[in-house]
Amino acid sequence: MDQTAIPCPFVYANGRTCCGVVRQARAYGPTKGKHYVDRADVRKYRLWCSDKDDHAGTASGIEGKLRMEFYPNELPPGVEDRLWAEDGLWG
Ligand SMILES: [Zn+2]
Repeated sequence: MDQTAIPCPFVYANGRTCCGVVRQARAYGPTKGKHYVDRADVRKYRLWCSDKDDHAGTASGIEGKLRMEFYPNELPPGVEDRLWAEDGLWG
């Protein structure tokens, strides 16, 4: 595993954590006329996993979509910092 990789924060219903890493992330919130959202304005992050992509699995529609959407306070400690530090939010 790439040592800079951020572990996928997805947790299965049985409590098992995913062994993939975050391969892509996007921040959502008001952009106030710019091309990106400031960290202080982020409402939600959407992540993609190297192993299971969006983790939607067999769930369809909004339920599947929400599985990899996280409010900033739902992310494990340090993950938000790393998303910003590594400039990986727009890849
Ligand atoms: Zn995952």
